[in-house]
Amino acid sequence: MDMKQHKEYITPPTEQTISRFDHCPCFQGRRSLLAIEPICWFCKYAGFDLKSDKLPESGICYYPKE
Ligand code: SF4
Repeated sequence: MDMKQHKEYITPPTEQTISRFDHCPCFQGRRSLLAIEPICWFCKYAGFDLKSDKLPESGICYYPKE
């Protein structure tokens, strides 16, 4: 987990790979979480493979689809 490599997008990179610490102005927190930071990991538009054995470092931004 390397926070130095996070990207700050000006617009959502729809259908592209994102990492957990990336973010953009369209961030919307997932409803199921109480404590959140405005990063892709907590965004309702992000898709991460949560069934993986390891914590996923990257996922896909599905904005504007949840
Ligand atoms: S997952 Fe959310 S915060 Fe991350 S780039 Fe997409 S819309 Fe922005």
